[in-house]
Amino acid sequence: MKQHIDTIPVWDAFKTDCECPLCELREINENNYVVSFTGGSVMEPDVRQEVNLKGFCARHFKLMMAGDKRLGVALMAHTYLKQTMARLGETRMAVQNMPAKGGLFARKKPQSGTDYSAITDSCILCDRLNNSMERYLYTTIYLWKKDPSFQAQMKNGKGFCLKHYTSLLNAAPEQLSDQELERFTSQLNEVEMTNLARIEKEIEWFTLKFDHKNADKPWGNSKDALPRTVLKLRGKE
Ligand SMILES: [Zn+2]
Ligand SMILES: [Zn+2]
Repeated sequence: MKQHIDTIPVWDAFKTDCECPLCELREINENNYVVSFTGGSVMEPDVRQEVNLKGFCARHFKLMMAGDKRLGVALMAHTYLKQTMARLGETRMAVQNMPAKGGLFARKKPQSGTDYSAITDSCILCDRLNNSMERYLYTTIYLWKKDPSFQAQMKNGKGFCLKHYTSLLNAAPEQLSDQELERFTSQLNEVEMTNLARIEKEIEWFTLKFDHKNADKPWGNSKDALPRTVLKLRGKE
């Protein structure tokens, strides 16, 4: 099958025995981005500028700091800090220059409700990752539409975390005809409900194993049911 979109990573993830193939893809991509931002390869000037402007969120700074490229991370943190200080100054000036309520000579006070999120919540790595995940959602639905063996793979899989299950539900209408959408939604719902029921039993047995009466009974699939239940509920982070 020849097409412009990259179906191989999606196929690979769907063949993995896991609670959510889209979480697998997210994790692989996140790790790749962490390596690419800290890997020491020369960064394109426009990417460097974007790093200086957006910086990284706490999670992604932390993941990058965990590697052995702390100097590289420190250099990025330094330039990002300097640029952020300048932007904070600009934002303060803009707030001060807004006409004050009560006329020209009213005392200027800091305004509550000023939106600083562009400064405090930006992360180039989150932006990149979100774009990749949108592409993978698209590719998943595309494959489902084009390839019956992919439909079978999805049907026999373990479903998705709730976040990616609902993302698929929301993304599907744009790519599918009414008839396809009905089939996709019913297959997706079936695999998801079946696997939620499975994991509900697994976590229940995990809790019952704490009862001394059950101590000698076999664990079955429940030994790691707690982290897998959390993954099902909230995704892999
Ligand atoms: Zn997921
Ligand atoms: Zn981030």
